Amino acid sequence: MTWYQENGRKLPWRGIENPYYIWLSEIILQQTRIEQGRGYYERFVSEYPTVVDLAKASEEKVLKSWQGLGYYSRARNLHAAARYVAEELGGKFPNTYEGILSLKGVGKYTAAAIASFAYRLPYPVIDGNVYRLVSRLYGIYTPIGTEQAYREFEQLLLHLIDRERPDLFNQAIMDFGSIYCKPTGCDCQRCIFRQECVAFREGKVDVLPVRRQKVTVKTRYFYYIDIRWQEFMLVKQREAGDIWQGLYELPLFETESPIDSQLLKQTIGEVLQSWLGMAPTDLEVGPEMKHQLTHRTIKAQFLKANYNRKPARIPEKMRIVRYEELKSLPISRLIDRYLSKK
Ligand code: SF4
Repeated sequence: MTWYQENGRKLPWRGIENPYYIWLSEIILQQTRIEQGRGYYERFVSEYPTVVDLAKASEEKVLKSWQGLGYYSRARNLHAAARYVAEELGGKFPNTYEGILSLKGVGKYTAAAIASFAYRLPYPVIDGNVYRLVSRLYGIYTPIGTEQAYREFEQLLLHLIDRERPDLFNQAIMDFGSIYCKPTGCDCQRCIFRQECVAFREGKVDVLPVRRQKVTVKTRYFYYIDIRWQEFMLVKQREAGDIWQGLYELPLFETESPIDSQLLKQTIGEVLQSWLGMAPTDLEVGPEMKHQLTHRTIKAQFLKANYNRKPARIPEKMRIVRYEELKSLPISRLIDRYLSKK
């Protein structure tokens, strides 16, 4: 804690006690690095200064503010939880660990962070930085990311936490883990824990923490069709039960394996015929893009289908928009990248 008070990072959400702002910062930081998260945090605080303001905003507006952070279910949970606080709790943010934990999208880590930072309740935060530092310091080999590891680290940290200033303790341990005890290349020679650190003494710094076996990453093949006539285009909103729920995108044809490049135009031509009841006047193959999600690789191929008039049939779930309108709708990072390429 002494180290932290002299060297900790000065951030806009540190040293404040407003649980709503702390919650915003924590949810944003689950998605991005501090430097990028700062801009999003400032935008959310200025667009939605209170939890009631966030609750009152439309989901589409909240998704738009979140755009670029990815994993949009977090934004939807944030909005749902704000509505719950505004409507069910009279706008008063819960002030117990259990109350905070009951909010949609709030897990143990976030609940401990809010409870300790805003209310100084002695709940230890356990994130990747804490797992790394503590596993090395105490020589713990339990694979992290498991329920068993969480319980084991929590027990130990409950003994260590400073009951007067759990906020400082938690921030200190996270900052030390991220600034000093880094995943690779940590500066053990100058570390203040060098004498007692088990991993350093036993030469196991590179071995700890032990990770669970990696989940296999699947590949999905997306063929996006940019259907245009005059200044209009077709878009579709993504449905529940899959990635990017609620976001808008170009009409999509998905396959389990890539379509042979020789057959691509013919296949997409047939798809368009069946969707719209007519073939395009011209079909161009556009850019190919790769997009990495946590457990999925998306290989996207964009195609441009030009029509000289409105297609004969517009499927029920597709929507006609003017080209410029698409930018103002909530869209995935992948679609945003495609639009900026043009
Ligand atoms: S000695 Fe090295 S491994 Fe151990 S806590 Fe310090 S920085 Fe981390």
